Amino acid sequence: MLDVVVVGGGPVGMFLAALLLQHGMSVRILEQRSEPNTHSRAIGIHPPSLEALDGVGVASGLIAEGVRIRRGVAIGGGVELAGMSFDSVSRRYPFVLSVPQARTEAALERRVRELDGGALLRGATVTGMHDDGSSVAVDVLTAGGESRIHASLAVAADGVRSTVRQLLEAPARLKVYRDRYLMGDFADSTAFGPDAALFLEAAGIVESFPLPGGVRRWVARLPGAPAVAGADPEASTTGGLARIVLERTGVAVDAGTNSMLSSFGARTRMVERMVHGRVTLIGDAAHEISPIGGQGMNLGWLDAADLVPFILRRLAGTGRERDFRSFEGHRLRAAATAARQAEINMALGRPLQRPWWTVRNRLIGCAAGVPAVNARVAARFTMH
Ligand SMILES: Cc1cc2nc3c(=O)[nH]c(=O)nc-3n(C[C@H](O)[C@H](O)[C@H](O)COP(=O)(O)OP(=O)(O)OC[C@H]3O[C@@H](n4cnc5c(N)ncnc54)[C@H](O)[C@@H]3O)c2cc1C
Repeated sequence: MLDVVVVGGGPVGMFLAALLLQHGMSVRILEQRSEPNTHSRAIGIHPPSLEALDGVGVASGLIAEGVRIRRGVAIGGGVELAGMSFDSVSRRYPFVLSVPQARTEAALERRVRELDGGALLRGATVTGMHDDGSSVAVDVLTAGGESRIHASLAVAADGVRSTVRQLLEAPARLKVYRDRYLMGDFADSTAFGPDAALFLEAAGIVESFPLPGGVRRWVARLPGAPAVAGADPEASTTGGLARIVLERTGVAVDAGTNSMLSSFGARTRMVERMVHGRVTLIGDAAHEISPIGGQGMNLGWLDAADLVPFILRRLAGTGRERDFRSFEGHRLRAAATAARQAEINMALGRPLQRPWWTVRNRLIGCAAGVPAVNARVAARFTMH
Protein backbone atom coordinates (compact mmCIF):
# COMPACT_ATOMS: atom_id res chain seq x y z
CA MET A 1 0.00 0.00 0.00
CA LEU A 2 1.22 3.50 -0.89
CA ASP A 3 1.61 6.27 1.67
CA VAL A 4 -0.11 8.94 -0.43
CA VAL A 5 -2.02 9.07 -3.71
CA VAL A 6 -2.08 12.52 -5.31
CA VAL A 7 -4.90 13.11 -7.80
CA GLY A 8 -3.85 15.67 -10.41
CA GLY A 9 -0.39 16.38 -11.79
CA GLY A 10 -0.78 20.13 -12.18
CA PRO A 11 1.60 22.51 -10.42
CA VAL A 12 0.11 21.87 -6.98
CA GLY A 13 -0.06 18.08 -7.13
CA MET A 14 3.44 17.87 -8.58
CA PHE A 15 4.91 20.17 -5.91
CA LEU A 16 3.21 18.23 -3.09
CA ALA A 17 4.49 14.94 -4.50
CA ALA A 18 8.06 16.29 -4.70
CA LEU A 19 7.92 17.36 -1.05
CA LEU A 20 6.56 13.98 0.08
CA LEU A 21 9.08 12.04 -2.00
CA GLN A 22 11.88 14.07 -0.42
CA HIS A 23 10.60 12.84 2.95
CA GLY A 24 10.92 9.25 1.79
CA MET A 25 7.17 8.67 1.35
CA SER A 26 5.84 6.34 -1.34
CA VAL A 27 3.72 8.46 -3.67
CA ARG A 28 1.76 8.02 -6.89
CA ILE A 29 0.48 11.02 -8.89
CA LEU A 30 -2.51 10.16 -11.08
CA GLU A 31 -2.83 12.59 -13.98
CA GLN A 32 -5.51 12.26 -16.65
CA ARG A 33 -3.52 14.10 -19.34
CA SER A 34 -1.17 11.89 -21.30
CA GLU A 35 0.98 14.92 -22.21
CA PRO A 36 1.95 18.03 -20.22
CA ASN A 37 -0.39 21.03 -20.43
CA THR A 38 1.25 23.64 -22.67
CA HIS A 39 -1.21 26.47 -21.93
CA SER A 40 0.47 29.38 -20.17
CA ARG A 41 -2.02 30.43 -17.50
CA ALA A 42 -0.24 31.60 -14.34
CA ILE A 43 2.89 33.65 -14.78
CA GLY A 44 3.46 35.28 -11.38
CA ILE A 45 5.39 33.42 -8.67
CA HIS A 46 5.39 35.33 -5.37
CA PRO A 47 8.22 35.43 -2.77
CA PRO A 48 6.64 32.97 -0.26
CA SER A 49 6.20 30.47 -3.11
CA LEU A 50 9.82 30.91 -4.21
CA GLU A 51 10.83 30.00 -0.64
CA ALA A 52 8.58 26.92 -0.87
CA LEU A 53 9.84 25.95 -4.34
CA ASP A 54 13.40 26.27 -3.09
CA GLY A 55 12.51 23.47 -0.67
CA VAL A 56 12.28 21.07 -3.64
CA GLY A 57 15.25 22.59 -5.45
CA VAL A 58 13.46 24.21 -8.39
CA ALA A 59 13.49 27.91 -7.42
CA SER A 60 16.95 28.78 -8.72
CA GLY A 61 16.34 27.15 -12.13
CA LEU A 62 13.04 29.01 -12.52
CA ILE A 63 14.65 32.31 -11.48
CA ALA A 64 17.31 31.77 -14.14
CA GLU A 65 14.54 31.23 -16.75
CA GLY A 66 12.15 33.96 -15.62
CA VAL A 67 11.92 37.74 -15.40
CA ARG A 68 12.22 39.37 -11.98
CA ILE A 69 9.48 41.98 -11.62
CA ARG A 70 10.81 44.38 -9.00
CA ARG A 71 8.41 47.23 -9.63
CA GLY A 72 4.90 47.96 -10.76
CA VAL A 73 3.53 51.23 -12.13
CA ALA A 74 -0.06 52.44 -12.30
CA ILE A 75 -0.85 54.70 -15.24
CA GLY A 76 -4.04 56.59 -16.05
CA GLY A 77 -4.68 58.84 -19.04
CA GLY A 78 -1.00 58.72 -19.99
CA VAL A 79 0.13 59.91 -16.53
CA GLU A 80 2.03 57.80 -14.00
CA LEU A 81 -0.23 57.74 -10.95
CA ALA A 82 1.86 55.56 -8.68
CA GLY A 83 4.92 53.37 -8.55
CA MET A 84 5.37 50.41 -6.27
CA SER A 85 8.64 48.72 -5.46
CA PHE A 86 8.83 45.12 -4.22
CA ASP A 87 12.28 45.75 -2.65
CA SER A 88 11.03 45.47 0.91
CA VAL A 89 8.65 42.51 0.53
CA SER A 90 11.29 39.82 1.01
CA ARG A 91 14.98 39.89 1.83
CA ARG A 92 15.73 36.81 -0.25
CA TYR A 93 13.32 37.28 -3.13
CA PRO A 94 12.45 40.99 -3.47
CA PHE A 95 10.49 40.44 -6.70
CA VAL A 96 7.63 38.57 -8.33
CA LEU A 97 9.01 36.05 -10.78
CA SER A 98 7.37 35.87 -14.18
CA VAL A 99 7.51 32.44 -15.87
CA PRO A 100 4.82 30.77 -18.00
CA GLN A 101 2.99 28.07 -16.04
CA ALA A 102 3.93 25.36 -18.53
CA ARG A 103 7.64 25.92 -17.79
CA THR A 104 7.00 25.91 -14.05
CA GLU A 105 5.11 22.62 -14.35
CA ALA A 106 7.93 21.16 -16.48
CA ALA A 107 10.50 22.05 -13.79
CA LEU A 108 8.36 20.40 -11.10
CA GLU A 109 7.81 17.30 -13.24
CA ARG A 110 11.57 16.97 -13.82
CA ARG A 111 12.13 17.13 -10.06
CA VAL A 112 9.47 14.49 -9.37
CA ARG A 113 11.02 12.18 -11.97
CA GLU A 114 14.48 12.70 -10.42
CA LEU A 115 13.12 11.66 -7.03
CA ASP A 116 11.12 8.69 -8.33
CA GLY A 117 10.92 7.84 -12.03
CA GLY A 118 7.67 5.90 -11.53
CA ALA A 119 5.78 8.35 -9.31
CA LEU A 120 3.87 10.14 -12.08
CA LEU A 121 1.28 8.08 -13.93
CA ARG A 122 0.02 9.95 -16.99
CA GLY A 123 -3.16 8.99 -18.84
CA ALA A 124 -4.69 7.92 -15.52
CA THR A 125 -8.15 9.31 -14.74
CA VAL A 126 -9.53 8.95 -11.24
CA THR A 127 -13.17 7.86 -11.26
CA GLY A 128 -13.81 6.72 -7.70
CA MET A 129 -12.59 7.28 -4.14
CA HIS A 130 -13.46 5.06 -1.15
CA ASP A 131 -12.32 5.89 2.39
CA ASP A 132 -12.89 2.96 4.78
CA GLY A 133 -11.45 4.80 7.79
CA SER A 134 -8.08 3.03 7.75
CA SER A 135 -7.06 3.51 4.08
CA VAL A 136 -8.26 4.95 0.79
CA ALA A 137 -9.03 2.98 -2.40
CA VAL A 138 -8.83 5.00 -5.61
CA ASP A 139 -10.44 3.81 -8.87
CA VAL A 140 -8.36 4.66 -11.93
CA LEU A 141 -9.08 4.40 -15.63
CA THR A 142 -6.10 4.05 -17.98
CA ALA A 143 -5.64 2.82 -21.54
CA GLY A 144 -5.10 -0.61 -20.00
CA GLY A 145 -8.52 -0.56 -18.30
CA GLU A 146 -9.81 -0.02 -14.77
CA SER A 147 -7.78 -0.65 -11.65
CA ARG A 148 -7.79 0.21 -7.95
CA ILE A 149 -4.89 1.75 -6.02
CA HIS A 150 -4.68 1.65 -2.21
CA ALA A 151 -3.01 4.31 -0.06
CA SER A 152 -3.02 5.48 3.53
CA LEU A 153 -4.03 8.98 2.47
CA ALA A 154 -5.20 10.77 -0.68
CA VAL A 155 -4.77 14.39 -1.69
CA ALA A 156 -6.87 15.84 -4.49
CA ALA A 157 -5.19 18.61 -6.50
CA ASP A 158 -7.39 18.02 -9.52
CA GLY A 159 -8.27 21.60 -10.33
CA VAL A 160 -11.40 23.73 -10.59
CA ARG A 161 -13.61 20.94 -11.93
CA SER A 162 -12.32 18.52 -9.29
CA THR A 163 -13.75 15.03 -9.73
CA VAL A 164 -12.79 14.17 -6.17
CA ARG A 165 -14.67 17.19 -4.79
CA GLN A 166 -17.73 15.90 -6.63
CA LEU A 167 -17.22 12.32 -5.46
CA LEU A 168 -16.97 13.55 -1.86
CA GLU A 169 -20.04 15.75 -2.42
CA ALA A 170 -18.06 18.46 -0.66
CA PRO A 171 -20.16 21.62 -0.28
CA ALA A 172 -18.63 24.72 -1.87
CA ARG A 173 -19.71 28.36 -2.13
CA LEU A 174 -19.68 29.69 -5.70
CA LYS A 175 -19.70 33.32 -6.79
CA VAL A 176 -19.68 34.21 -10.49
CA TYR A 177 -18.61 37.71 -11.55
CA ARG A 178 -19.74 39.55 -14.65
CA ASP A 179 -16.16 40.56 -15.55
CA ARG A 180 -14.51 39.05 -18.65
CA TYR A 181 -10.95 39.47 -19.79
CA LEU A 182 -8.88 38.82 -22.87
CA MET A 183 -5.20 38.04 -22.54
CA GLY A 184 -2.48 37.58 -25.09
CA ASP A 185 1.30 37.36 -25.35
CA PHE A 186 3.07 39.61 -27.88
CA ALA A 187 6.62 40.73 -28.65
CA ASP A 188 7.46 43.49 -26.18
CA SER A 189 7.09 46.86 -27.91
CA THR A 190 7.29 48.95 -24.73
CA ALA A 191 10.00 50.60 -22.68
CA PHE A 192 8.75 49.04 -19.42
CA GLY A 193 11.51 46.42 -19.38
CA PRO A 194 11.02 44.14 -16.33
CA ASP A 195 8.33 46.38 -14.77
CA ALA A 196 4.65 45.49 -14.57
CA ALA A 197 2.23 48.19 -15.73
CA LEU A 198 -1.42 48.67 -14.84
CA PHE A 199 -3.35 51.08 -17.04
CA LEU A 200 -6.33 52.30 -15.02
CA GLU A 201 -8.40 53.65 -17.90
CA ALA A 202 -11.99 54.83 -18.00
CA ALA A 203 -12.89 52.14 -20.55
CA GLY A 204 -11.49 49.40 -18.29
CA ILE A 205 -8.15 48.15 -17.03
CA VAL A 206 -5.27 46.91 -19.17
CA GLU A 207 -2.48 45.01 -17.41
CA SER A 208 0.93 44.37 -18.90
CA PHE A 209 3.59 41.99 -17.56
CA PRO A 210 7.04 41.03 -18.84
CA LEU A 211 7.69 37.42 -19.83
CA PRO A 212 10.98 35.73 -20.71
CA GLY A 213 12.28 36.03 -24.27
CA GLY A 214 11.29 39.65 -24.96
CA VAL A 215 7.57 38.88 -24.71
CA ARG A 216 4.87 40.79 -22.82
CA ARG A 217 1.50 39.59 -21.62
CA TRP A 218 -1.42 41.97 -22.05
CA VAL A 219 -4.67 41.45 -20.17
CA ALA A 220 -7.65 43.71 -20.89
CA ARG A 221 -11.05 43.80 -19.29
CA LEU A 222 -13.54 43.32 -22.08
CA PRO A 223 -16.27 45.88 -22.55
CA GLY A 224 -19.65 44.47 -21.47
CA ALA A 225 -20.12 40.81 -20.66
CA PRO A 226 -20.83 37.89 -23.00
CA ALA A 227 -24.51 37.67 -22.11
CA VAL A 228 -24.95 41.44 -22.25
CA ALA A 229 -26.10 43.23 -25.39
CA GLY A 230 -23.26 45.31 -26.74
CA ALA A 231 -20.54 42.79 -25.95
CA ASP A 232 -18.19 42.77 -28.92
CA PRO A 233 -17.17 39.31 -30.22
CA GLU A 234 -14.58 40.94 -32.51
CA ALA A 235 -12.81 42.15 -29.38
CA SER A 236 -11.97 38.51 -28.55
CA THR A 237 -9.42 38.17 -31.36
CA THR A 238 -5.71 38.96 -31.54
CA GLY A 239 -6.49 42.09 -33.58
CA GLY A 240 -9.28 43.00 -31.16
CA LEU A 241 -6.92 42.82 -28.19
CA ALA A 242 -4.28 44.86 -30.02
CA ARG A 243 -6.98 47.47 -30.80
CA ILE A 244 -8.13 47.66 -27.16
CA VAL A 245 -4.53 48.03 -25.97
CA LEU A 246 -3.87 50.82 -28.48
CA GLU A 247 -7.12 52.68 -27.77
CA ARG A 248 -6.76 52.55 -24.00
CA THR A 249 -2.99 52.84 -23.50
CA GLY A 250 -1.54 54.29 -26.70
CA VAL A 251 0.81 51.29 -26.95
CA ALA A 252 0.92 49.61 -30.37
CA VAL A 253 1.38 45.85 -30.07
CA ASP A 254 2.13 43.88 -33.21
CA ALA A 255 -0.76 41.42 -33.61
CA GLY A 256 1.45 39.35 -35.92
CA THR A 257 3.76 38.47 -33.00
CA ASN A 258 0.98 36.99 -30.88
CA SER A 259 1.95 33.63 -29.37
CA MET A 260 -1.04 33.03 -27.07
CA LEU A 261 -4.60 34.34 -26.88
CA SER A 262 -7.18 33.35 -24.32
CA SER A 263 -10.26 34.83 -22.75
CA PHE A 264 -11.47 34.08 -19.26
CA GLY A 265 -14.15 34.96 -16.74
CA ALA A 266 -13.92 35.17 -12.99
CA ARG A 267 -15.35 33.00 -10.23
CA THR A 268 -14.71 32.35 -6.59
CA ARG A 269 -15.44 28.83 -5.41
CA MET A 270 -14.54 27.94 -1.87
CA VAL A 271 -15.11 24.56 -0.23
CA GLU A 272 -16.40 24.57 3.32
CA ARG A 273 -13.98 21.78 4.29
CA MET A 274 -10.66 20.78 2.78
CA VAL A 275 -10.19 17.70 4.94
CA HIS A 276 -12.64 14.81 4.50
CA GLY A 277 -11.44 11.86 6.55
CA ARG A 278 -8.36 10.49 4.76
CA VAL A 279 -8.86 12.69 1.69
CA THR A 280 -7.76 16.34 1.52
CA LEU A 281 -8.59 18.85 -1.22
CA ILE A 282 -5.93 21.46 -2.05
CA GLY A 283 -5.20 24.04 -4.76
CA ASP A 284 -7.95 24.99 -7.20
CA ALA A 285 -9.92 21.89 -6.17
CA ALA A 286 -10.43 23.58 -2.79
CA HIS A 287 -10.48 27.24 -3.75
CA GLU A 288 -10.87 28.87 -7.14
CA ILE A 289 -9.84 32.51 -7.19
CA SER A 290 -10.27 35.02 -10.02
CA PRO A 291 -7.12 34.92 -12.20
CA ILE A 292 -7.04 38.71 -11.88
CA GLY A 293 -5.79 38.21 -8.32
CA GLY A 294 -2.76 36.34 -9.75
CA GLN A 295 -2.55 34.12 -6.67
CA GLY A 296 -4.32 30.80 -7.39
CA MET A 297 -1.29 28.66 -8.13
CA ASN A 298 0.69 30.28 -5.33
CA LEU A 299 -2.10 29.58 -2.82
CA GLY A 300 -2.11 25.92 -3.86
CA TRP A 301 1.63 25.56 -3.32
CA LEU A 302 1.34 27.08 0.13
CA ASP A 303 -1.52 24.63 0.91
CA ALA A 304 0.82 21.80 -0.05
CA ALA A 305 3.76 23.11 1.99
CA ASP A 306 1.51 23.53 5.06
CA LEU A 307 -0.10 20.11 4.62
CA VAL A 308 3.09 18.04 4.52
CA PRO A 309 3.92 18.14 8.28
CA PHE A 310 0.37 16.99 9.08
CA ILE A 311 0.60 14.15 6.56
CA LEU A 312 3.92 13.04 8.06
CA ARG A 313 2.46 13.04 11.57
CA ARG A 314 -0.64 11.18 10.48
CA LEU A 315 1.42 8.52 8.72
CA ALA A 316 3.59 8.20 11.84
CA GLY A 317 0.42 7.64 13.86
CA THR A 318 0.84 10.83 15.90
CA GLY A 319 -1.50 13.13 13.93
CA ARG A 320 -4.63 14.41 15.59
CA GLU A 321 -7.89 15.41 13.95
CA ARG A 322 -7.58 18.91 15.38
CA ASP A 323 -4.17 19.42 13.65
CA PHE A 324 -5.89 18.91 10.30
CA ARG A 325 -8.67 21.29 11.31
CA SER A 326 -6.10 23.98 12.14
CA PHE A 327 -4.42 23.43 8.73
CA GLU A 328 -7.81 23.75 7.05
CA GLY A 329 -8.81 26.91 8.96
CA HIS A 330 -5.49 28.58 8.19
CA ARG A 331 -5.58 27.75 4.48
CA LEU A 332 -9.22 28.72 3.97
CA ARG A 333 -8.51 32.09 5.63
CA ALA A 334 -5.55 32.59 3.25
CA ALA A 335 -7.82 31.74 0.29
CA ALA A 336 -10.49 34.16 1.51
CA THR A 337 -7.87 36.93 1.75
CA ALA A 338 -6.69 36.20 -1.80
CA ALA A 339 -10.30 36.19 -3.03
CA ARG A 340 -10.87 39.63 -1.45
CA GLN A 341 -7.68 40.93 -3.08
CA ALA A 342 -8.88 39.61 -6.45
CA GLU A 343 -12.25 41.35 -5.94
CA ILE A 344 -10.46 44.65 -5.26
CA ASN A 345 -8.36 44.18 -8.40
CA MET A 346 -11.47 43.43 -10.46
CA ALA A 347 -13.33 46.45 -9.04
CA LEU A 348 -10.36 48.68 -9.93
CA GLY A 349 -10.47 47.34 -13.46
CA ARG A 350 -14.13 48.05 -14.28
CA PRO A 351 -15.07 50.85 -16.68
CA LEU A 352 -15.86 54.15 -14.96
CA GLN A 353 -17.55 57.33 -16.12
CA ARG A 354 -15.01 60.15 -16.66
CA PRO A 355 -15.66 62.29 -13.55
CA TRP A 356 -15.50 59.25 -11.23
CA TRP A 357 -12.44 57.90 -13.05
CA THR A 358 -10.60 61.22 -12.51
CA VAL A 359 -11.46 61.29 -8.80
CA ARG A 360 -10.61 57.59 -8.32
CA ASN A 361 -7.23 57.91 -10.02
CA ARG A 362 -6.35 61.03 -8.01
CA LEU A 363 -7.16 59.17 -4.80
CA ILE A 364 -4.97 56.25 -5.88
CA GLY A 365 -2.12 58.66 -6.61
CA CYS A 366 -2.47 60.27 -3.16
CA ALA A 367 -2.73 56.96 -1.29
CA ALA A 368 0.29 55.53 -3.10
CA GLY A 369 2.29 58.59 -2.07
CA VAL A 370 1.99 57.54 1.60
CA PRO A 371 4.95 55.17 2.13
CA ALA A 372 3.15 52.98 4.71
CA VAL A 373 0.16 52.50 2.40
CA ASN A 374 2.42 51.82 -0.57
CA ALA A 375 4.39 49.20 1.37
CA ARG A 376 1.17 47.59 2.64
CA VAL A 377 -0.24 47.29 -0.87
CA ALA A 378 3.06 45.86 -2.17
CA ALA A 379 2.95 43.27 0.62
CA ARG A 380 -0.67 42.32 -0.22
CA PHE A 381 0.18 41.95 -3.92
CA THR A 382 3.07 39.64 -3.14
CA MET A 383 1.24 37.50 -0.54
CA HIS A 384 3.17 38.75 2.49
C1 LIG B 1 -5.90 32.97 -17.37
C2 LIG B 1 -5.34 32.54 -16.06
C3 LIG B 1 -4.28 33.24 -15.50
C4 LIG B 1 -3.78 32.87 -14.24
N1 LIG B 1 -2.74 33.57 -13.70
C5 LIG B 1 -2.27 33.22 -12.46
C6 LIG B 1 -1.11 33.88 -11.88
O1 LIG B 1 -0.50 34.77 -12.49
N2 LIG B 1 -0.70 33.47 -10.67
C7 LIG B 1 -1.30 32.43 -10.00
O2 LIG B 1 -0.86 32.10 -8.89
N3 LIG B 1 -2.35 31.77 -10.52
C8 LIG B 1 -2.86 32.13 -11.73
N4 LIG B 1 -3.87 31.43 -12.30
C9 LIG B 1 -4.45 30.28 -11.58
C10 LIG B 1 -3.61 29.01 -11.79
O3 LIG B 1 -3.51 28.71 -13.17
C11 LIG B 1 -4.27 27.87 -11.02
O4 LIG B 1 -4.54 28.32 -9.71
C12 LIG B 1 -3.38 26.63 -10.98
O5 LIG B 1 -3.25 26.02 -12.24
C13 LIG B 1 -3.99 25.62 -10.01
O6 LIG B 1 -3.17 24.50 -9.97
P1 LIG B 1 -3.76 23.09 -9.53
O7 LIG B 1 -2.60 22.14 -9.61
O8 LIG B 1 -4.52 23.22 -8.26
O9 LIG B 1 -4.85 22.74 -10.64
P2 LIG B 1 -4.64 22.52 -12.22
O10 LIG B 1 -3.54 23.34 -12.75
O11 LIG B 1 -5.98 22.68 -12.83
O12 LIG B 1 -4.21 21.01 -12.32
C14 LIG B 1 -5.12 19.98 -12.04
C15 LIG B 1 -4.65 18.73 -12.75
O13 LIG B 1 -5.53 17.65 -12.38
C16 LIG B 1 -5.79 16.86 -13.52
N5 LIG B 1 -7.06 16.18 -13.28
C17 LIG B 1 -8.29 16.71 -13.22
N6 LIG B 1 -9.20 15.76 -12.95
C18 LIG B 1 -8.54 14.59 -12.87
C19 LIG B 1 -8.93 13.24 -12.63
N7 LIG B 1 -10.22 12.90 -12.42
N8 LIG B 1 -7.99 12.28 -12.63
C20 LIG B 1 -6.67 12.59 -12.83
N9 LIG B 1 -6.25 13.86 -13.08
C21 LIG B 1 -7.16 14.83 -13.07
C22 LIG B 1 -5.83 17.87 -14.66
O14 LIG B 1 -5.59 17.27 -15.91
C23 LIG B 1 -4.74 18.86 -14.27
O15 LIG B 1 -3.49 18.51 -14.83
C24 LIG B 1 -4.37 31.78 -13.55
C25 LIG B 1 -5.43 31.06 -14.14
C26 LIG B 1 -5.91 31.44 -15.38
C27 LIG B 1 -7.08 30.66 -15.98
